[in-house]
Amino acid sequence: SKRLEGKIAVVTAAGQGIGRRTAERFAEEGAKVYASDLDRAKLEGLDALGITTEALDVTDKEAIRAYCERLPTPQVVFNCAGFVHHGTILECDEAAWDFSFDLNVKAMHRILSALLPRMIEAGGGSIVNMSSAASSIKAAPNRYVYMASKAAVVGLTRSIAVDFVGKGIRCNAICPGTIESPSLEGRIADLGKSVGGTDKAREMFVSRQPMGRLGTPDEIANLALYLASDESSFTTGTTQVIDGGWSL
Ligand code: NAD
Repeated sequence: SKRLEGKIAVVTAAGQGIGRRTAERFAEEGAKVYASDLDRAKLEGLDALGITTEALDVTDKEAIRAYCERLPTPQVVFNCAGFVHHGTILECDEAAWDFSFDLNVKAMHRILSALLPRMIEAGGGSIVNMSSAASSIKAAPNRYVYMASKAAVVGLTRSIAVDFVGKGIRCNAICPGTIESPSLEGRIADLGKSVGGTDKAREMFVSRQPMGRLGTPDEIANLALYLASDESSFTTGTTQVIDGGWSL
């Protein structure tokens, strides 16, 4: 039988990249998926797979409250929304700090505050939070507030895991290395401006990967699927590094 048969799954930032591929994988494996993204247009095509789509800005407290009220109680929540700020502490002003923490961390707090009581009441579920290898695990240059916020995701994840382990709730974090995605293409183009071209910039991202290649959204989606499913029923509070050996 399918690996998520009978489960209701919520996925944020499902318009492109890892979030989109994961929403598709969840649906392929039998879940009823509720996918959202800031940008409604990016969700196009998902409805054809039986996925229910809606625009949702995860930094909008009121919108989240209303959205979660409309949702049926899920067994799976994948918090995927996140933003990569480029720069050191010296390039990170108050607004940049607040934006990254709001989107990368507090959004999870909002969504889980709304859904967790209902999930517990319904017998539990699996929460998967998007962190990064660039967090408490691996230092990457020019990722100051990104690393700080993604490390906070690890703490948030472990805290929920320990507090609700007796209530049927599992909560795990995914920590990818560099993964092919539309926003990565943007970061490569930006870096290209200072290192002499896009090809050179891509080479720099690839050369730090011991496997000699970047990861794919499919590889991350398969890990999210495993964590979402009952196959991982003895796993909670973990940080699952999936980085092609980058942090070795
Ligand atoms: P991406 O960055 O290309 O796409 C992000 C999606 O998030 C877009 O569809 C965008 O519209 C949506 N989004 C942006 N702001 C939003 C908001 N306020 N509310 C709802 N949606 C919003 O996708 P990606 O690169 O696959 O990244 C997805 C997640 O994975 C992020 O949390 C990112 O930090 C994390 N991650 C990515 C990589 C990588 O190399 N790509 C590595 C480690 C972690």
